[in-house]
Parts: sequence; structure tokens; C-alpha cells
Amino acid sequence: MNFERRKYENKSRNKNNNCNIRSNLERSSSQTSINKNQELTIQYDRRHCPYQLLCKEFISSLSWPEIYFNNLYDRCYCFRCYSENKSDAYLIANSPYVIPRGWVRFGIHVDNVKAQVEDIWKKWHNTYHGTDIHSALSIIKHGQFLLKGDTFENGDQLNCRCPYLYTSPTIKYSARNAYAKPNRFVTSNGECFIAKIVLQCKQKPGTYNIQGATGNARREKKICNIISNDKIEYYTDIRASVIPYGVMVQLTAVDT
Ligand SMILES: [Zn+2]
Repeated sequence: MNFERRKYENKSRNKNNNCNIRSNLERSSSQTSINKNQELTIQYDRRHCPYQLLCKEFISSLSWPEIYFNNLYDRCYCFRCYSENKSDAYLIANSPYVIPRGWVRFGIHVDNVKAQVEDIWKKWHNTYHGTDIHSALSIIKHGQFLLKGDTFENGDQLNCRCPYLYTSPTIKYSARNAYAKPNRFVTSNGECFIAKIVLQCKQKPGTYNIQGATGNARREKKICNIISNDKIEYYTDIRASVIPYGVMVQLTAVDT
């Protein structure tokens, strides 16, 4: 049992148990000292989560300009950093924020004036947009999503079939291969992973339509334990209503 899990289990016990634990700890100073060291180890592990470090290595391997990132909002949602006892979802602006379990967020800068004027952190919904590495960088670089017919900085035009921008309230849907393209990633230690990227967004209520799963996802019984399949995809043609604020990374180990 790791220290992280032990701490959460201790927390969930009743008060009497906690008293017993406390009195046991107070029996000797050496015991107290050992437990203090355990606490330090817990904090150390959280700040240096090995999974988060691997995801960071993946992000670094992309060589994106560091200035795009705002590491104040980095957060790991692996099973150690976000305990299984914690909630799978929260209500934000009367909409479920589905916790991206198993993913690591790397914060990116947002337009602070717009964020304050619109009060996006409290009033906008949390959504996800699965994409490939090239498109993710393009969205961050342009500071917004592009829509069909838009012209990139290099003069190329965005030619896609649909005039809409698609998001989902659950990362389980956005992370599907059809959206978040899998990338092979080999770490500096030679370990091999499949890496995926999903953008975490704030999305303005009342500016998007909701529909059921599309494509192959229609055949799946239940994609997410929080969001039903018939309300799992959002679409909009209002680009300013979606603001990406984090790059989510997931690594899955593969045999070399
Ligand atoms: Zn972690």
C-alpha cells in the first residue's frame, strides 16, 4: 500500500479511530518523527509524481514555445494524485465538470481580460476537445479555434467537412482515437508509450448545441459513467465561445 492511499484511508476512519491513531503517534517522539518523515515523503511524491514527470517529458519533446504554458495550473489526475475516493465530477455553472482521471493538465495562458469580463471560471462550462499535436499547437498559437474556411498564419486554408467546432463534457469521448490521435513516444529511459492530447476548455453556456455520440462511438453502450451517450457531443460555430486553458496528456504503456 503506498503512503498516498494510506493517508486517505486514515482520513476516512471515524473520529475514535483518529484519536487512537493520534495517541499512538504521541507515544514516543521517535514514532512522531517517523510519521513526520512519512508526511514529507507524501508531499515529495505529489510534487514529483513519476507519471506527471513522464507526461512533462512528452510535452517537452514537442518543443512548443514555453511561453504558451502557465504552469500554475498544471495538475495531475493520476490515481495517486487524485484519489479514487474523490468525486468523479463536480457541478460548475450547473453543468457537470467530469474529472479527467488518468490525465495530466499543463496549463496554458488565457486572455485574462476576457476571463474576468466573462467570469469564465465560474460561469462557463468545462469541456474537452480531442485533437492531434499539430492542430493543438495551431489552436494555442492562434489563441482560438479555427473554423472551416479560416486562413492560417501561413496562408493555408482550413478545409474540413463540417462548419462546426466539436467538444464534449467528458474526456472519455474526446480521447477517442477519431479525435485525439495516438502518438508513439519513447522516453529518455527507453520506455515506450502511446501519448494522446486533449485540450481542456471553458465553454460559454447557451452558445452550443448538444447531440449524441457520432461515428463508431454510437455502437458503444456507455462511454462515460457521468454523461449519457445521447448528450455527449457539443457543437458550435461561435469560435469565441470556447477557450482552451489546458493541454491534457495521457500516456499508455506499450510493449516495445
Ligand atoms: Zn500523479
